[in-house]
Parts: sequence; C-alpha cells; structure tokens
Amino acid sequence: MSSSERLQPGRGANLVEVPDGAYVYVVRSRRSGGVSVGVDLTPAGACPLACDYCQVPRTERVTSIDRVELARLRIELSSTFQALAERGEQAVDVCFAGSGEPTWSPNFAAALEVAIDVAAGRVPVRVLTSGATLDWERVREPLAGLVARGAGEVWVKLDAWDEATIARFWASRGQARHEARIARFARETPTVLQVLVAARTHGPSIDATRRGLRDAIQRIVAAGAKIQRVSLTTMHRPPGTADQEVSAYDDDALDEIASVVREAGVPVTVAYARPRPAHASTDSVAPT
Ligand code: SF4
Repeated sequence: MSSSERLQPGRGANLVEVPDGAYVYVVRSRRSGGVSVGVDLTPAGACPLACDYCQVPRTERVTSIDRVELARLRIELSSTFQALAERGEQAVDVCFAGSGEPTWSPNFAAALEVAIDVAAGRVPVRVLTSGATLDWERVREPLAGLVARGAGEVWVKLDAWDEATIARFWASRGQARHEARIARFARETPTVLQVLVAARTHGPSIDATRRGLRDAIQRIVAAGAKIQRVSLTTMHRPPGTADQEVSAYDDDALDEIASVVREAGVPVTVAYARPRPAHASTDSVAPT
C-alpha cells in the first residue's frame, strides 16, 4: 500500500458531520466522553504493531510514513472548530489517534505544536500512543512538554501482561521492555494507561486477564511511574481484518476486569461498548 492511500479508521458510525480532512476528523468518542476532534497523522496506517483487534482495515504492516503538511493541519483544525461552533457543538478534546502510531511521523513534534496552538484555552490535546517510540528523544520530549505545560495528556497502551499475551494480542515481543519504557517515561511525566480487553477464542479467561493486567500495572507503578488513571475499554467495531476470534467484552465482563485492576491502586475509567451514563462508568477523576 502506498503511503498516500487512506484507510479512514474511526471515521464510521460515530462520525460527526463536519468537513473531513486529510488529517482531521470528528467523532463522538466513548473514550473521551464527548465530541472529539481526531488527528490522524498516519492515514496510510503506519504502525509498528499488528494488534489482533485493530479496526484499521490493513492487510499488511505499513512502515513508510510521510511528513505532515503542517499548514494543512492547522487549516483543518481551525475550520473544524469553526464548523463545530456553527453547529452549536463543543469538542471535549483534540485527540491524536487515527490509523496508526501518531508519533512515528518525522515531524510529529511540529504537528503537536500546531494542535496545542489551535486548541489553546479550548480543549486539552491527547496523544494516544502504542508506547513503542517513547524512548525516542524526538517523541519523549514533546510528549513530556505537552503534559508539563498543562496542555493535555499522554495515553500509552498496555493490553498484555506477559510474553504469551503480547505475542497473541500485538504479534510482538518484549512485554518487560514495554513496561520498562512506560515506567521510564511516566517517572517524569504523569501518564494515562489505555487498556483494551477483548474476548478471544482459546484466549485468556476474564480472571487471568484482570489478574494479569493488575500485576502489570503494579509492576509499572512499583518502578516509580506516575499513572494518572487507567482507561479500560473494549472493541466498538469488528477488527479490520475480519478476525472472528476477537470480539468485544460485554459490560459485566468489563466491570469484572475493572474491579480487580483497581487493586493496582490507580483510578480506572471504563468506556463500555455501548454508552452509559457517565456517573455509572467512572471512578472520580479530575477533569482535564
Ligand atoms: S497500535 Fe493501534 S493502529 Fe497500531 S495495530 Fe494496534 S490498534 Fe492498530
């Protein structure tokens, strides 16, 4: 796949009808709890991981990535905020997520500055990352700066708890390395852990999942990480590869997992597969 082709993840059922750009789209986000202005710096799906639940319809790993057109990104963000205002809608955040690993872009830091500048004083900027690039200075420093300036949050993925689960869930290796990367970053920078759990044929049980995640989070916290909270969710749409072995957990299963993950001593917010009243789904968490 050429890097100019677009996969358009997350631009489906929850899309809010405002002009859709090369980099910017708008969704009603369960995770963010409202209208979220999404930024997709990897429209061709470039990502170091190959998660079994990934909703991006790619058939192979994509590793080539173009530079972001910063002027275009600024125009798209500004016009999106204007379009939302004209509709009487209020965004809750600007969220770097999209079709792959947002920090992979060679000019990610400059793109983040554009978003912080446009969002300034309106909404926080959230960066959702796999964590694979957290040791890169050109990624670590802008992410740390985002939080230090009070301009937003960094959310890092943690789905697995040992070598067997990271291999099954992410087609990757190095669970201990991943946890160590998170701990190094989060010792200096308060961080949100984003955890996606799913039911898998012949996969780990709910009990193994909740104990495994609790233990992994405890290890990261014991290593000195400042974890603001855990954002626990499940799949909201089928995987992009139509893998029938992975499916969403229902609300009861999510609650069961959350109840044990909380034993790690950090707040847990839950984004269910279907929306619920906000008060029913979260611990007490300071608004950002
Ligand atoms: S990190 Fe995100 S985009 Fe990359 S494979 Fe996993 S779910 Fe898909």
